[in-house]
Amino acid sequence: MAVPKSKITRSRRNMRRSHDALVAGNPNECTNCGELKRPHHVCPSCGHYADREVIAMVEDIDLDEDAA
Ligand SMILES: [Zn+2]
Repeated sequence: MAVPKSKITRSRRNMRRSHDALVAGNPNECTNCGELKRPHHVCPSCGHYADREVIAMVEDIDLDEDAA
């Protein structure tokens, strides 16, 4: 088993971890609905990509339709 040659101090450990933070994404506005979306991805709220509708969105799903 590999054994560390010497102790990593709290200071060195924290210096190493100073670069570990995750950065937030860089959202774009959808050109169709204006909702924020990931760049180069289909808009999750309207299903458009590059001004074309590529996923047909269902307007409203009623899950209790035949429950009664
Ligand atoms: Zn959209």
